[in-house]
Order: sequence, then structure tokens, then C-alpha cells
Amino acid sequence: MKVFIDYIRSLFLLELLKGLQLTGRYLCAKKFTIQYPEERAPLSPRFRGLHAQRRYESGEERCIACKLCEATCPALAITIEAAPREDGSRRTTRYEIDLFKCIFCGYCEESCPVDAIVESRTYEYCFENRGENIMTKEQLLAHGDKHEVQLAKDLEAQAPYR
Ligand code: SF4
Ligand code: SF4
Repeated sequence: MKVFIDYIRSLFLLELLKGLQLTGRYLCAKKFTIQYPEERAPLSPRFRGLHAQRRYESGEERCIACKLCEATCPALAITIEAAPREDGSRRTTRYEIDLFKCIFCGYCEESCPVDAIVESRTYEYCFENRGENIMTKEQLLAHGDKHEVQLAKDLEAQAPYR
């Protein structure tokens, strides 16, 4: 009996018609495709893009050179050197992230006790010259300064889950 039903199905191209019906249904449906870069897909507050270093409102950098992020980084992408300042506070003299090594796991952000190192929503970046894969402290701070409003909002949204 099954053989007969299959024969009838193939004779009247029922499978083909079923497929065309599905195609027709999606032909007029709302499209999922977006016109990048004019249109952007929404990003989660937990999106892990390019890193940034944050400052306090006073302008003082948040990082206290505890090196927890360096210790926790599974890719050994972070390099920190630190020294005490004249006022006795401890700050980094060198803070670098090798973006070739980084796997964007977010562990550095999670381990930081003062929310200094964060991963921003920036995902459009490229390197044109050798060595640009190393993000320096100055670049990290500049990136943080540029996106501070969004970074603060994202951290606030994540707060209940941290
Ligand atoms: S995101 Fe992960 S791999 Fe990248 S620097 Fe932070 S801890 Fe290291
Ligand atoms: S970024 Fe955060 S975890 Fe890393 S050294 Fe600075 S204070 Fe410590």
C-alpha cells in the first residue's frame, strides 16, 4: 500500500507542490535580511566586542593594577606592568591586550573588581599594519572615553546577573 501511495505522490508531483507552497509562503513574509551597514541588528548588553578601559567621573582611571584580569585570561592576551605613583596609589604603567590572542571570552571583564576593563559593543575594526593588534592602555582609555555612556548603561543592565 505504501508503495502505491508513494507512486501516486510522485506521479502528481505532490512533494514538489508542497515545497513550492512553502516557498510561496515565505515569498510574501517579512524578510529577516537587513541592509547592513545602513541597518544594524540589535546587540545584547552582554555583547563582547572590542575592549575598553573606563574612568571614574573625576577622570581618574579605574584600573588599580591588581592584575586579576591578566591572571584569569585563558589566552594570555593581557600584559600588565605596574608601579606606585607619587601619591602612593598603584596604577599600571603598561596595559596591553593582544587582539590576535584574545578569544573574547569576557573573563577579564568578569574578574575586574572595579569595572575597569570591559568589552564594548564595537565590532567594526581592522588592522592595516603590523603591530596594530596590540591595544595599548592609551587606546583602551580613549575607546572607553568615547563609549562611556553606553558602557555604563550596559553594565547597569547586566548588574542583576553578575
Ligand atoms: S576577553 Fe578573554 S581572552 Fe580576551 S583579553 Fe579578556 S580574558 Fe583574555
Ligand atoms: S583592569 Fe581590573 S582586573 Fe585588570 S588589573 Fe585593572 S583593576 Fe585589576
